[in-house]
Parts: sequence; structure tokens; C-alpha cells
Amino acid sequence: MISRIDLRGAAFPEDGIDRDLLPRAEFDVEAALDQVRPICEDVRHRGTAALIDYARKFDGVTLERVRVPAGALQTALEELDPKIRAALEESIRRARIVHHEQRRTDTTVQVVPGGTVTERWVPVERVGLYVPGGLAAYASSVVMNVVPAQEAGVEGIAVSSPPQKDFGGLPNPTILAACALLGVDEVYAAGGAQAIAMFAYGTEECRPVNLVTGPGNIYVASAKRLLKGRIGIDAEAGPTEIAVLADATADPVHVAADLISQAEHDTLAAAVLVTTSVELAERVEKELAAQVGVTKHSERILAALAGRQSAVVLVDTIDQGLAVVDAYGAEHLEIQTADAAAVAARVRNAGAIFVGAYAPVSLGDYCAGSNHVLPTGGCACHSSGLSVQSFLRGIHVVDYSRDALAEVTHHVVTLADAEDLPAHGAALRARFDWQVPQ
Ligand code: NAD
Repeated sequence: MISRIDLRGAAFPEDGIDRDLLPRAEFDVEAALDQVRPICEDVRHRGTAALIDYARKFDGVTLERVRVPAGALQTALEELDPKIRAALEESIRRARIVHHEQRRTDTTVQVVPGGTVTERWVPVERVGLYVPGGLAAYASSVVMNVVPAQEAGVEGIAVSSPPQKDFGGLPNPTILAACALLGVDEVYAAGGAQAIAMFAYGTEECRPVNLVTGPGNIYVASAKRLLKGRIGIDAEAGPTEIAVLADATADPVHVAADLISQAEHDTLAAAVLVTTSVELAERVEKELAAQVGVTKHSERILAALAGRQSAVVLVDTIDQGLAVVDAYGAEHLEIQTADAAAVAARVRNAGAIFVGAYAPVSLGDYCAGSNHVLPTGGCACHSSGLSVQSFLRGIHVVDYSRDALAEVTHHVVTLADAEDLPAHGAALRARFDWQVPQ
């Protein structure tokens, strides 16, 4: 069901192991560009009419308009199962506690007497938040996108999620209810690349945005890559990944359940166990077989576990295990070893780290307070998950007095001349009757 990669006895070079030895999902964003480019161009030119056509083609629904009426949001909230409402409220409450603390204050540094540089944090004006709605309805992604945007102080928040055949062409009602709970009233029934194009170019119904965030499938990721520059993007979040670094102290039942929990997202989802214990590997493999048999989405999970993106990786030592998980740079990394906190502290590359037996990834998916929109595909070695910072820009404000400028002018003129850009120096000299203060 799940393949094995045996790295015991292998050489572990000090500068890191070859990533090609490790499992990874086939998620060729570049290849999907050819499919996505005409869709984006079409939305750019035909706006709402194109969105309605793609909703018919890809989602099997006939829409009259793409913007969700305010009444539908209210109805979804009124009809929401009280238990789901309570759980969503708790998820929002915890996410707010964490994201509230991420807010940044402006900092002013006095470089010299009379010369200051301030970093002023300014929220992006208008954002488009994509909430996936293909295989599953990610109401939790509404929380994970909206809460940091709100805490950052973003004024214009628009959400888009695919229209659903079963709900009369509206996005999933739990997604709508989550928007209503969070006070978001600008919601669109658009999915895939066309939703990203709507945000980037604008349509008759939707003003263009400055930044698009949120996970999605390959068409969403590909459209984000295509339109990056015109809009800012968070990351090309792809199929979910879980890596578990475990030793013989880990409970195989927990490890198997956690691997399955993320394989449930997608046939392309990756589940990787890295372990020093052959016995644990064998017991987890048995547990996987037992647990998959009784879970709802067993077909999807089996495909994910059997795919080349999933594996059990055997290593000799925890140090080697750390080298493997660092090279892999998983979206979600669980540490289930003795002294898990100390091992976790040594990890360099991961979207989020879950420490010990009682911090499963599913907790982070919903109610840890952390964000679940995280870098995938190895991007954790250069990118972070969604946070308040994702919605802010730091603007440098430079304020120098005449004396402070005079003091440094000769250095600026020298550097400008060295770069053969004398007009740069002249801009300073002009302020001192063309003299260079010494
Ligand atoms: P989705 O909303 O991303 O995509 C559905 C849309 O894809 C449809 O509305 C349709 O417009 C479009 N589409 C479908 N087939 C198409 C085709 N042949 N050509 C062009 N467009 C087409 O939902 P999904 O498909 O369920 O994918 C969600 C993804 O998000 C999963 O891979 C899941 O693992 C991932 N996810 C990631 C995170 C994270 O933080 N990284 C969080 C949640 C979900």
C-alpha cells in the first residue's frame, strides 16, 4: 500500500541529502499553464459571462450571477447546525488569539542625529481569498484566510469558492456561514483558475484585488503563478503533505491515523513516515491497512498512500531523520520521538511543526490557533504559512535634516561617481549650492 525507501547505511552528505531520493507529488504547475492561460484571458475580456460559462463547464451549474446575494449568507448562517457553529466560533476565537499577537508596530530608528528611518506597516487595501470547494468544502480555510487579513487591518476582503451543484450554484453553505460569522459579505461563486482571474482583472461584479491568498488545486496554483506580478500571491499552495519523524517510542496507531488524515485531502496528497525503527514501520504499515479499510474516503486515501509521493523512509539515527525532513521541507511535520520538543527545535524546514503525541496535524487544521495555509512542494525552505504579515507591507519612511544630509553627502557623491551615476550625487550637491560638504 505504501512504498519503502531504505536509507539505512546511505551516505548523508553534510550539505544535505539529494531531494530526488525523497518522495514528492507530481504537481506540474508549469504544465497546467497552457490550460489556464486561455481561461484567464477569457475572464479578462468577457468578465462575468466567462465565469458563468466556466461554472457550467467545470462545476456543472447554471449561474445568473457570480456574486452571492447577502440574503444567502444570512440564510446559511441561520440554517447552520449549532454544533458546527460552535466549533467554527472556537476555531475563529483561537485563530484570533494567535494572529492578533502577530500584528506589527511601526519602528523608528535614529540612524544619526536628525536622520531617521521608520518602517511603517500598512495593510494591503483589497484582497481576494480563495477557499477550495472541489473534493471537500473547506469552511476552515475561510477562517484561516479571513482572520489574519482582518487582524492585519485589510479593509476590502472578498472570498471566492466554487459553485456547487447540490446547493443551487452557491458555494457550500458552511463556507457561506463561516463568511457570515466573520462579517465578510463580499462572496463569489467561482472556482479554479477563473476565480483567480476574476480577482486579478476584475469583472462587472468584482473589483480587482491587490493580493490573492489561499490554497487550491493545480489550476488555482497555476493561475496564481501566471498572474503573479499583476497581483501579489501568498504561495502556490499545492496538495497537502504530512511527514512524521518518529522513533520506537511513537504509537503506531496515532502515526497511521495522522498519515491517513492528510491523505484524505486528495489522491495527490503526500504522507511520509521517517523513522529509525523498523518495528514501528511494520506496525504502522499494518495499522494503515486496518484503518483505511474502515474510513469513509478509503479510495482517495489508498491512491494517495500508494502514490509515489508517499513512503516510509528508514534511517539509522534521528540526526539522519532530521536531514531527511529538512530536505523534504514538509507542509506539516509531526515529531513523535523521545524528547520531541528538543528534536523539533532542530528542524529548519517545515511549514508547521507539531510536537509530541498530542499535537496531531488535524488539530492545526482546525483549532490549534495556528494557520493551516502552509507552503507545500518543498517551498517551506523559503516561504512561511499565511499570517498577519502576509497582508502587510513595510514602507520605509526616510526623514533627514539638512545637517544630517550634509554630514553624509560626500559619501553619497563618491558612491554615485563610482557607479558612474553622477546625477545621483548632483541631486545632493544641488542642496548645498553645488558644494560637497566635507
Ligand atoms: P479547488 O477549489 O481548488 O478546485 C475546484 C475547481 O477546479 C473547480 O471549481 C473547477 O473550476 C476547477 N477545475 C476542475 N477541473 C478542471 C479542469 N479540467 N480544467 C480547469 N479547471 C478545472 O478544489 P480541489 O480540487 O478540491 O482542490 C483543493 C486542494 O487544496 C487540494 O489539493 C487540497 O489538498 C488543497 N488544500 C491545501 C491546503 C494548504 O494549506 N496547502 C489547505 C486546504 C486544501
